[in-house]
Amino acid sequence: MTTPQTSPPRALIVGLGISGISTAIALHKAGWNPVVIEKAATRRGGGYFIGMFGSGRFAAERLGILKGLHNRIPNPSVIYEVDRAGHRQPGVGFGDIPDGPWMMMRGDVERAAFDALPTEVEVRYATVPEQIEQDADGVTVTLRNTADETTRSERFDLVVGADGLRSTVRKLAFGPPEKYLHRLNYMIAAFALPDDLPGLPRSEGAILAEPGRSFWVFPFSDRPSTVLFSYRTDDVDAEFTKPAAQRIREVYGTEPLGAMMEAAVQVLESSKEYLFDSVEQARLERWHHGRVVLVGDAAWCPSLYSGMGATSGIAGADLLGIMLQRHPGDLEAALTAWEAKLRPYIGAYQKTGVSNRITFTPSTRAEQRRRAVSMRLRRVLLGSPMLSRLVAKSKQMRIRNEDLAAA
Ligand SMILES: Cc1cc2nc3c(=O)[nH]c(=O)nc-3n(C[C@H](O)[C@H](O)[C@H](O)COP(=O)(O)OP(=O)(O)OC[C@H]3O[C@@H](n4cnc5c(N)ncnc54)[C@H](O)[C@@H]3O)c2cc1C
Repeated sequence: MTTPQTSPPRALIVGLGISGISTAIALHKAGWNPVVIEKAATRRGGGYFIGMFGSGRFAAERLGILKGLHNRIPNPSVIYEVDRAGHRQPGVGFGDIPDGPWMMMRGDVERAAFDALPTEVEVRYATVPEQIEQDADGVTVTLRNTADETTRSERFDLVVGADGLRSTVRKLAFGPPEKYLHRLNYMIAAFALPDDLPGLPRSEGAILAEPGRSFWVFPFSDRPSTVLFSYRTDDVDAEFTKPAAQRIREVYGTEPLGAMMEAAVQVLESSKEYLFDSVEQARLERWHHGRVVLVGDAAWCPSLYSGMGATSGIAGADLLGIMLQRHPGDLEAALTAWEAKLRPYIGAYQKTGVSNRITFTPSTRAEQRRRAVSMRLRRVLLGSPMLSRLVAKSKQMRIRNEDLAAA
């Protein structure tokens, strides 16, 4: 697929999330002319806690995003493992990991990326793809403006699906979601708190891990915490038939909630901005098909239990731009090289996305006990400067912190 080109090649990027904005910056840097479309009528700010690992920070630096980010909890955090009776013992947080992630909000990354997006990149809101047709010379995409219900067809040299877990580009170009989405049978409700919770001062977090359900308070130094409820379900579809707060009360309310969880549920009950969703992974054998390529959650969603979604979205976008620059005029070579380089990392993140689930939410009493032993062991390891250096050098941490473009 070699194309002699005079004017810059044109790319359609579907989705103005972290992966889409990063891809637009990367492609612009590589000499492309990107157009971004977004289903929502405006930008999506706000959100929940995310940890940004080194691989994401290296890429963010190259894309001009890092200067807009800071670690919202720069020192080791105070995290308690709690139970409903009010007992507390020291726990382990992301901030305790040497060379660990920077802690921030999803909205921080979205804003920093949007601020780094060159002004000449066109962004169209309330616009979705309806049809994608490829031929040897390009892709014709039918675009629908959902505000005025008009449609138009446009030609592009490349279409990037950065439209999240339930990607329309993936459906149009690769096939139905049932082929690619794997449910882990867990639900999450995630949201930001307007104030500190009772009994938890600023910078202090808490974890309540019970069989089949957990409650996490992720602390920050410079703003109130965010909350994550994560629970097991046997029927994902039925979960969406009731409001999130009602489901949380049903699942967690079999015993008294206690002051901290009660305050969090009340925030959820009055909040308009929250995420209530099933935990799923996208697993595809190929992320590109001709001139259509998927990036971020649309391609490889590793699940929030991996902690690598935002990091890999930025790193994958940055690497895509680098490969397009290395293979000018040869799209197939660029996309093949990009996949070959990225696959081993994403495969590892997806594995931890499954295995880390027990750390987030043990499913049974036996898993709860295993988790407690593992947490105690981690506290010992991370409490010793020598042992924690070994953790920092472990393969698990190396693949999260490497500069993918240099590796
Ligand atoms: C609770 C929680 C905690 C997490 N913690 C971490 C963490 O610690 N570290 C980490 O790295 N990641 C974490 N993640 C994952 C991370 O937030 C995501 O992986 C990342 O934000 C995905 O970005 P994306 O741009 O690929 O997809 P999305 O954020 O889903 O963006 C997709 C965009 O496409 C738009 N869109 C959808 N359909 C269409 C359409 N048909 N046409 C046009 N536009 C469309 C959407 O409106 C949206 O703007 C966490 C996620 C959750 C839920």
